[in-house]
Amino acid sequence: MLTENVYINGEWIETGDEIASQNPANTQEVVARVSKGNRGTAKQAIDASVEAQDEWKSLTQPERGSYLRDAAEVVEERFDEIVDLVVRELGKTEGSARGEVQRTVDLLNYYAEVARDKGGIAPPSASQQTLTYTKREPWGTAGVITPWNFPIAIPTWKIAPALVAGNTVVFKPASLTPGTAAALVQAFDKADLPAGVLNFVPGSGSEVGDEIVTSDSVDVVSFTGSSRVGKHVYESAVSDGKRVQTEMGGKNPIIVDETADIEHAVQLTISGAFSGIAGQACTATSRAIVFEEVYDEYLEQLIKSVEDLTVANPTESDPNLGPKVSQSELDSDLEYIAIGENEGATLAVGGDQLTGGEYEDGFFVEPTVFTEVEPDMRIAQEEIFGPVLAVLSVSGFEEAISVANGVDYGLTASLCTNDLSRTQRFTRDIETGVVKVNQTSTGVGMQMPFGGRKQSSSETFKEQGRQALEFFSHEKAVYVTH
Ligand code: NAP
Repeated sequence: MLTENVYINGEWIETGDEIASQNPANTQEVVARVSKGNRGTAKQAIDASVEAQDEWKSLTQPERGSYLRDAAEVVEERFDEIVDLVVRELGKTEGSARGEVQRTVDLLNYYAEVARDKGGIAPPSASQQTLTYTKREPWGTAGVITPWNFPIAIPTWKIAPALVAGNTVVFKPASLTPGTAAALVQAFDKADLPAGVLNFVPGSGSEVGDEIVTSDSVDVVSFTGSSRVGKHVYESAVSDGKRVQTEMGGKNPIIVDETADIEHAVQLTISGAFSGIAGQACTATSRAIVFEEVYDEYLEQLIKSVEDLTVANPTESDPNLGPKVSQSELDSDLEYIAIGENEGATLAVGGDQLTGGEYEDGFFVEPTVFTEVEPDMRIAQEEIFGPVLAVLSVSGFEEAISVANGVDYGLTASLCTNDLSRTQRFTRDIETGVVKVNQTSTGVGMQMPFGGRKQSSSETFKEQGRQALEFFSHEKAVYVTH
């Protein structure tokens, strides 16, 4: 079991209160005990962050990046231990957890490398005597608020560019996964990051999160989580004049046309909707929009593949999917399954909670597929965030695009096709931030900008890639005459 405290000004401080995280596959097991902060603790962390700013931003960007490279080494040294923590704290499969921890190492090294690139072309000067150039400066203190479903990779893809750009950081992790988040902060501590540059305050969203979002001393907020909380965070931070980025939910489609390789399309659907994390990804495939010509063939193969999926405790075997992260997340899936049945969709496979025996102390649900789904049904419109897939039939490409776009979300979308001319129309007309052809809706490259449209993102600023540095800094136009 991991035990850790809050981290303020380079010190691990016990608060006298704690968050105990449990294994969602076996709730008898406590995975981590981490000191819990409150509004006062968050204020101390913000003060420490403000105090550390001048010194941190006076370092060169490559110097700041070198701390990331050192932190990456620590994560690599503890690789298996952190993978185990991710599996136990959140119930991801080991393969999925390995991918996440490797992504963490890669992100730290990527931003350390980006930090070395000081290049850029100065705009031409209007006079021989004047040198003109642009430079980017940090905002100051960055508040980072993250969800539980990627408990170490998402914090890293926010914290790494924030630090490289020269900001100091106050980090509030999700309350369900504070142990994995603490492991990341431990890596920075081990890398001798200067005191106050990164501060870590687990605690409730309405207290610690709210303090970060509303504090006058926080300049920039990067949030990932539900659309409900994100909307509130955005409005509150913007009205305080802060720079803010909110990454939220999705209702991601995979379109399967009549030219597609159906076996491959089924594999991509299974991978995006069910594998590894039981549908608990913002990029998870939650709608399959299938041309009527291939609907029966696709469905037959899909249902057979879903019936073959294994669900188990990932700390004891290597299943296709593990548990839901919490009782309330499980209850929410079961509620949506009941809604789907009441709306008149056909429950083709799954639909039940798994109980008894090896499932007794965990939050398990069967991978579930609804067919005969109509576009306006709630199961086709709302983010379920579980292993529940809605399959819809369409009569052609125009209808497929219209159904795909006919939701409030716009994060990712996939098209399975062998008709290249459709690829162009798809990439042009689909209303999402990430567009994929013959790929699963999940999985994004760290060098590529990431973000969505509509209720999926506050759209203006992207995450990951070099775009993340633009969010965490502002540009100055400089004119020097001698
Ligand atoms: P959530 O309930 O919205 O929580 C996200 C974070 O916000 C947590 O740290 C939470 O703290 C905090 N929070 C809660 N209330 C707050 C408030 N009033 N002020 C400030 N912070 C507050 O989301 P979740 O259940 O952890 O994550 C699942 C959601 O994240 C899904 O909707 C998923 O689609 C989305 N997601 C989006 C992306 C993306 O990049 N688009 C990636 C991953 C996940 P507590 O944990 O203490 O409540």
